[in-house]
Amino acid sequence: MRLPGKPPKSSDGIRCNLCSNECILEEGERSYCGLRKNINGEMISRVSPEVALAYAYLDPLPMNCCAAWVLS
Ligand code: SF4
Repeated sequence: MRLPGKPPKSSDGIRCNLCSNECILEEGERSYCGLRKNINGEMISRVSPEVALAYAYLDPLPMNCCAAWVLS
């Protein structure tokens, strides 16, 4: 999944206020965190209290911690 390099700030989009990135998503646009998307003018979340989104990968430097944006 390709994520935007910075929080989207589309002038006529829908705003998300869940975190300080305050993404503003135009139709079809995916959020900075990758968890939200504007579909038909509605902010759709890929996660819920019942559904989680998780990734697993082989970290060649296992002492590294998650980047801050992963935790936002
Ligand atoms: S929670 Fe995600 S969609 Fe909402 S403002 Fe933060 S980065 Fe953007």
